[in-house]
Amino acid sequence: MGQIIDGKMVAEHLRKGIAEEVNKLKRETGLVPGLAAVLVGDNPASQIYVRNKRKACEEVSIYSEEYKLPEETAESYLLTLIEKLNHDEKIHGILVQLPLPKQINEARILRTVSPLKDIDGFHPENVGLLVEGNPRFIPCTPHGVIKLLDYYGIEIQGKEAVVVGRSNIVGKPVSLLLLHRHATVTICHSRTKSLGEVTRRADILVAAIGRARLITEDMVKEGAVVIDVGINRLPDGKLAGDVDFENVCNKASFITPVPGGVGPMTIAMLLWNTFSSAKNSKGF
Ligand code: NAD
Repeated sequence: MGQIIDGKMVAEHLRKGIAEEVNKLKRETGLVPGLAAVLVGDNPASQIYVRNKRKACEEVSIYSEEYKLPEETAESYLLTLIEKLNHDEKIHGILVQLPLPKQINEARILRTVSPLKDIDGFHPENVGLLVEGNPRFIPCTPHGVIKLLDYYGIEIQGKEAVVVGRSNIVGKPVSLLLLHRHATVTICHSRTKSLGEVTRRADILVAAIGRARLITEDMVKEGAVVIDVGINRLPDGKLAGDVDFENVCNKASFITPVPGGVGPMTIAMLLWNTFSSAKNSKGF
């Protein structure tokens, strides 16, 4: 059985470090990092994410504000709110919880968030900086994946990395980060032919698909490192990843569980981005 990558433990360790940094910044400069989370509609998963983010902010002494708007909110109202937050000196990070209701143009909203406060790293300017290899804000979930690999001393350079999923939020940015760390990267998606043939090449396999247990034992090379980003709700209410953990764990050298793998890392990296945005805003 492979070693289980304990994201909960690593995230806790990171959050402790962030709390120390935030308190030091406060002591030495009086600056308190601030995060504004905007939630439109009543998607239950989004509500849980936003609540967890607020709790996590409190724990590391980051100031936070929460804006809960009704499902029928007009795009113009949201744009005005974001403009206000862009100019609010207490706020260094703005998070707009996705998905947004259909009357709101997601791309327009993401372009309106000031790139200097775009702690998710979704603004095209920040995407460009990431592609260039000179990121301002690294998207939180992909950043969490790299932090886990580093924490467990897993070498990336020269390795065959296969990423399944090509979303702007996970698949593409995690592929870029692996590329910048000198892996040979292949990106698979819903139209990839013979998926298993490609995934079996992977020394590092990242699954970011959103299909419960799609990655089965026969699709994984003996000794591969398997990172499961997926969070899927099963009919019985339980959570499952994109990887068939029970069987794949016998083949993998390292593997992340769901829950308790990549998930907790996302919030830790969000706190880190808020802290670093606050510092940068004052040139510290
Ligand atoms: P998405 O739906 O935007 O993208 C899914 C990707 O998977 C697409 O690029 C698609 O081409 C690919 N895909 C779909 N079916 C496939 C198939 N049969 N074979 C190969 N590729 C296939 O999803 P996303 O936002 O990237 O999220 C992916 C998963 O990660 C979801 O389960 C989501 O809940 C989870 N997630 C977790 C975190 C976290 O904090 N751990 C953060 C973001 C997303």
